Amino acid sequence: MTRGEPMAKPFSRLAIVGLGLIGSSLARAAKKAGAADKVVAIDASADVRARVEALGIADEVTGDVASGVLNADFIILCVPVMANAAIAAAMAPNLARGAIVSDVGSVKGCVVKDVGPHLRPDIHFVPAHPVAGTEHSGPDAGFAELFVNRWAILTPPEGTDEAATQRVRSFWEAIGANVEVMTPEHHDLVLAITSHVPHLIAYNIVGTAADMEEVTQGEVIKFSAGGFRDFTRIAASDPTMWRDVFLTNKEAVLEMLGRFNEDLAALQRAIRWGDGEALFNLFTRTRAIRRSIIDMGQETAAPNFGRTPEPLK
Ligand code: NAP
Repeated sequence: MTRGEPMAKPFSRLAIVGLGLIGSSLARAAKKAGAADKVVAIDASADVRARVEALGIADEVTGDVASGVLNADFIILCVPVMANAAIAAAMAPNLARGAIVSDVGSVKGCVVKDVGPHLRPDIHFVPAHPVAGTEHSGPDAGFAELFVNRWAILTPPEGTDEAATQRVRSFWEAIGANVEVMTPEHHDLVLAITSHVPHLIAYNIVGTAADMEEVTQGEVIKFSAGGFRDFTRIAASDPTMWRDVFLTNKEAVLEMLGRFNEDLAALQRAIRWGDGEALFNLFTRTRAIRRSIIDMGQETAAPNFGRTPEPLK
């Protein structure tokens, strides 16, 4: 199957729980790619349900998770990771025989621990994490192309039915993603350094700048172009989602932060002792890493991240 083409056998009834950025993007993408015959949107919030109806991105909309999952052959949980356990408990008795349950959470070990025990042996559980997103939230922020050429990581627990994993893989491929399979533990370690710690650094630097007394907040905003502005984009990410990420991937994040602090101390020393060679060598290595990310098609080489400059007034 070529990426982005309809699946050989689409799911007949896809239930998406949580129609935020990721859930609403999945609803749009699944419809567009023909990866599901029917999409059922389940969200506890009346405002979110009203927006989903107005946007016309699902065939059915309900606030009740237990009835919403009835007869669904594929259920994807798209809520903050710490909300998964309660939802799994509420939907478990109504899951159809042989249904596949998945999720999109940014941390995988805790999802396996929180959701797995609620599921009967006949239910297949294939957790997933699309490494795609924006700093925006809610159903209006979603779009069908969000996953195109992005990675979707599947973390099936040991003993998961291979055919179920294959169906989930083919779903993600149908909506344009590249798929990789790894253990939940390895996922959490890799994502700690590529995503979680960078977010923490962004939250921290924006917080530090906001709390400074010698430099006014007005100056921080006015002169933000020199690097700071890109941190503010990341630091605008959803507070609930990211609180849950740090509380549930605690060990891997602390491990990576330990290494980060050691390397930062080495840089501090290089600056203090005027070791230009150490600085130059590191900056040369990091520049090469950005080039390889561009070469892999995961980022644009256009200046200013491809942003269109404001026209001169
Ligand atoms: P979002 O836009 O904030 O949407 C989350 C949805 O879940 C909202 O509809 C929200 O309803 C609902 N929700 C929140 N708490 C809930 C609870 N306790 N019980 C039931 N529903 C609840 O978030 P998102 O960015 O789509 O993130 C959803 C999941 O995707 C998270 O697990 C996150 O780790 C993962 N993820 C996010 C990104 C990203 O870049 N954003 C990327 C990859 C994976 P309310 O609006 O009423 O709160």
